[in-house]
Amino acid sequence: MSNKEVTLKDLKVNEHGRILKVGGEGALRQHFLDMGVIPGAEVTLVKFAPLGDPMELQIHGYELSLRLEDAGKIVIEKIDERKNKHQRIETIVNHAHPGLGEDGIFHDKKTEVPLPEDEILTYALVGNQNSGKTTLFNQLTGSNQHVGNFPGVTVDRKDGVIRGYKNTCITDLPGIYSMSPYTSEEIVSRNFVLNDKPKAIINIVDATNIERNLYLTIQLLEMNVPMVIALNMMDEFTGNKGAIDLNGFEEMLGVPVVPISAAKNEGVDELVNHAIHIAKYQERPKKQDFCLKEDHDGAVHRCIHTVESLIEDHALKAGLPLRFSATKVIENDQLILKQLDLDQNEKETIEHVILQMEKESGMDRSAAMADMRFDFIERVCEKTIIKPVESKERIRSEKIDNLLTGKWTAIPCFIAIMAMVFLLTFNVIGPFFQDILDAWISSLGDLLLQLIDTIGVNPVIRSLVSEGIIEGVGSVLSFFPIVVTLFFFLSIMEDSGYIARVAFFMDKLCRKIGLSGRSIVPMLIGFGCTVPAVMATRTLPSKRDRYMTILLTPFMSCSAKLPIYGYFANAFFGNKAGFVMIGLYLFGILVAIAMALIMKNTVFTGNAVPFVMELPNYRMPSAKNVLRLLWDKSKDFITRAFSIILVSTIIVWFLQHFDIHFNMVEDDSLSILALIAGYLAPLFKPLGLGDWRIVTSLVSGFMAKESVVATLKMSFGSSIREVFNATSAMTILVFSLLYTPCVAAIAAIKRELGKGWGVGVALWQCLVAYLFAFLTRLVCLWIGL
Ligand code: GDP
Ligand code: MG
Repeated sequence: MSNKEVTLKDLKVNEHGRILKVGGEGALRQHFLDMGVIPGAEVTLVKFAPLGDPMELQIHGYELSLRLEDAGKIVIEKIDERKNKHQRIETIVNHAHPGLGEDGIFHDKKTEVPLPEDEILTYALVGNQNSGKTTLFNQLTGSNQHVGNFPGVTVDRKDGVIRGYKNTCITDLPGIYSMSPYTSEEIVSRNFVLNDKPKAIINIVDATNIERNLYLTIQLLEMNVPMVIALNMMDEFTGNKGAIDLNGFEEMLGVPVVPISAAKNEGVDELVNHAIHIAKYQERPKKQDFCLKEDHDGAVHRCIHTVESLIEDHALKAGLPLRFSATKVIENDQLILKQLDLDQNEKETIEHVILQMEKESGMDRSAAMADMRFDFIERVCEKTIIKPVESKERIRSEKIDNLLTGKWTAIPCFIAIMAMVFLLTFNVIGPFFQDILDAWISSLGDLLLQLIDTIGVNPVIRSLVSEGIIEGVGSVLSFFPIVVTLFFFLSIMEDSGYIARVAFFMDKLCRKIGLSGRSIVPMLIGFGCTVPAVMATRTLPSKRDRYMTILLTPFMSCSAKLPIYGYFANAFFGNKAGFVMIGLYLFGILVAIAMALIMKNTVFTGNAVPFVMELPNYRMPSAKNVLRLLWDKSKDFITRAFSIILVSTIIVWFLQHFDIHFNMVEDDSLSILALIAGYLAPLFKPLGLGDWRIVTSLVSGFMAKESVVATLKMSFGSSIREVFNATSAMTILVFSLLYTPCVAAIAAIKRELGKGWGVGVALWQCLVAYLFAFLTRLVCLWIGL
């Protein structure tokens, strides 16, 4: 790079630039192009993250954050003022309707053959991240999928049936920005459309961010699958004086467009009508050709059409859409090239064609494709859309961001917010409801026992009910309020868009331990439950980052560990209980940081992936979403208590009350459990946890962490203070914090990382837990706790 070249890095806050050249290489560069970072695009530098890196840019009317290192690869020229290349329309003119999207009124039905009645109409719900796919999916199907205001909430596909149309199956896919796979979730979405061959696509487009959203739309149109566009967030769009010439827009794109507001359930019925219609009659987009003959003296146009004719037969054989394959071949998409199976000669001919185009247009192949698409998008928008004024939401977001991501205020605010969340959860709201619930449970238990005594049930059953179920399950149930409160706060943070900011300003710190800001998202989810957290790592673009993050998330205290903390903290640390609990959370984070440093310098050398992420506007968390999530989590918690935890308490109770000859024992040290746990007990002696009953509880924790408390309660009842003291309580707390999460989490890890990893991670974590528990004991003994 010559000295004179100015890059994005040289921009100062509020300065503008025009992109001249996009450096870098491979998937990351493609990703930049797909996000609209293309030659000719105009940008404004909005701000730097509090620690100076990454930066936030305004481009194509949305906010993008990227690292300085990557910004240094993008050559720009500074400009004084940003102006749109084209003149926008001033008023909306009503075009004649092109005949799309009106339930086929303008079509001659006789020439069309509908699919047979019993054919299932399959739909793919495709769109950018945060465009409202899951919200729409829930509206369409009446299901309860999780909605969140940060990229990467949906990481796996989910299927559902459109309400009122039994013969349909709609699939909610992870959000993608383009059909060039960048992260593993993007591959899920692309493969679904290419390989599962849905009968139609519902493309959801965020109207408030239309340029960038249409980039994906264009590529979907190239695939020549029946499609309808759901133009979402119309409430915000029109609320801020945006307007659209819908008929003109439909005509230019060649597919039906239905304005909707998924959150308000407006326009959804009309969308369904269209969706059913286009799938039934297999109405394909009217247009796949988006290149202009005049553009770059026709270089790009010529190139695409030549490649199309060169690969036509191969595409047909491979079952790939032609125009799509041609642009992907030009972009050098290896997956498509392999499927096309071209021979050496053909490859060389194509290479010549592309080289010629690069020479004539002065752009490289990937940039040329991105340019062609954005060019078309610009033409569409300039003719049919009056952009909304800077929205109230945007202005509000900026104000909030001045504080929450401000240079000096971001990290203190983050700490204050987290501290408040935990204090409210553990010291105020949680315990208040817990006391009430506790009282209910014990009076209910008493009632149950009275009933049993009056009807005179046999003593074995009585013991099972009183010691097993009431003590065991009851003790776990009483933590219900705390868990729900924690989820309440997490969901508010998520839904409001705050978590995306945390990722943004923590990026620099994260890189010091070899991770990127994106890893923060799965970790925060890990405070709720490890299983979704492990799944959420699919949004991380590199294998290395995914592995590291998955190995670290279990150290974040999941909500199932709460009953253990609460039980011991209340019994041994009195009014300091809340602080002990918060301390444990912090300790888990510290251990994770230490582990990350070790991993970074041993197994996972190298750098974290570049950070490119969109920052969504802050939104008022919708009460419906939050309630829905709370309802889900509550159901989950109660089901767990009465399934896996109930079963494990019954098993433990049985093993504890019978000997190997299945005789009931008076003294439980003669029981089967004592026998088995006896083998393991010596192992825990050095930790001061050598009692076989404690060992049992820890082993039962593998099934579900709440079982630790259930089992302890069964074994010791209220005499816990006779067996534990402050030191051993601290030791078992640290051990419980760090050792393997439940089987479900191990299964999730195995699913993500492959065989062997599940068991490996479990063993490794037990080892780490043992080590730190031992150290804790030494420290506690030393300070004389
Ligand atoms: P996904 O990532 O595409 O699945 O998007 P989500 O369904 O998770 O929604 C992202 C955010 O957009 C959430 O905060 C929703 O509440 C919000 N949202 C979805 N649809 C609308 C809408 O029509 N209007 C407004 N104002 N917000 C919406
Ligand atoms: Mg989603």
